Parts: sequence; structure tokens; C-alpha cells
Amino acid sequence: MKKSLFVDRGKLESAIRQAEQNGPLGNRGLLWKAIAELYNKNRGDAPEITFSVVLLRVGEWNLPLKTPRGKKGRSGMTTEQKVAQVKLMQAGRLSGEGRVSKAEKFAKDPAAKSALEDLKKTVPERYQPLVLKVIQGSRTAALKLKCLDCANWQPIEIKLCPVTDCALWNFRAFTKKAIVKDAAGNDTIDDSEEKEENSNESEE
Ligand code: SF4
Repeated sequence: MKKSLFVDRGKLESAIRQAEQNGPLGNRGLLWKAIAELYNKNRGDAPEITFSVVLLRVGEWNLPLKTPRGKKGRSGMTTEQKVAQVKLMQAGRLSGEGRVSKAEKFAKDPAAKSALEDLKKTVPERYQPLVLKVIQGSRTAALKLKCLDCANWQPIEIKLCPVTDCALWNFRAFTKKAIVKDAAGNDTIDDSEEKEENSNESEE
């Protein structure tokens, strides 16, 4: 289990007092940053913390603050307006009105359709089910295909991918698959598991 970062509670409370010594700040975002800065200046041997750690510990220890919560950009709305807006959103969600699926968007967009046709042509037969999932709007399938293309369609190369500065590295597929030997004694990943994964893949 991931260990949470040590924060000196006394020093954090002192940083809060200093940050708000002249009264509340403009908003909580400014407050978290000010507290983190003050805490880090006087932290001694304790590890440095970011403003998000401040936010988490303040919530966890329920520390009192003078700076009020923001209204998340809806401060101009009356309560009646907010209720009406929530009702409208709920009604839209229930009826599905106004929601267009990715598949519908792709089908209506000539550029998207043409790009998907190009994709179909470049993907080997065994991975065509993933192309169908992309057409249906699956980002997960698109990501998997990108890695497969990069790894010359060898899932094991994706599992063992050494390019840790690639933006997709933490999202790449096949990391949980066991490596097995093929008939020739080479390391590989079981095809049947892959087929099953393709058919069970969740949509986004
Ligand atoms: S994570 Fe590795 S296999 Fe996937 S795109 Fe990046 S470099 Fe290629």
C-alpha cells in the first residue's frame, strides 16, 4: 500500500495561521499555495509538500480556515436558478437528448470516416476487432492500437517497453499478461488471452 507523505501537523497549523494572519485570502487556491510555501520554508527535516498535500491534510484533520470555499464559478446564480439548471441537466441525461455518441460523431464526419478507413487498412487481421471498437468510440482500443503499431504488433514488446518517457507508457496494455514460451521457445504473450481481452474490452 502506498505510504502517505509525512506532514508535521504543528507546522502546518502554524503555516495556516501565518497565511491568514491578515484575514481570509481571495480564494482557497491562493490559500493552499501560501500555506505550502510557508510550511516548506520552516519544514526542518520534514519532506517538502505541494499545495495538493496541504488541501488533503486540511480536509483529513478538519483544520479551521478563515478563507471560505469558492462557489465553483456559479456564484452569480440564485438557488432557484441552480435547482432549475440541475433539473434540466437531469432531464437531458434521462432522455439521452442532446447526447451524441462518439460513433455517431465519427459517422457524420467525413474526415473521421476517412481516417478510420485508413486505420482499417494498416491494421493486421488479428487486431481488426480493435479497429471496430475505435469506430464505436473506444479510446482504450485506440491506445492499444497505437502501442501495437509502435511495437510492430508484438504485445510482448509493449509489456517490456523501455520508453518510459512516452506519454502512453503508464497507460499501455498487456502489462498484467504473463510471458509464456511459444512453440519455438520464444517469449510471447498468450494469443487466446488477447482475443478474450479484445472482446471484453470496456467502452469509453
Ligand atoms: S508506451 Fe511504448 S509501445 Fe506504447 S507507444 Fe509508447 S513507446 Fe510505443
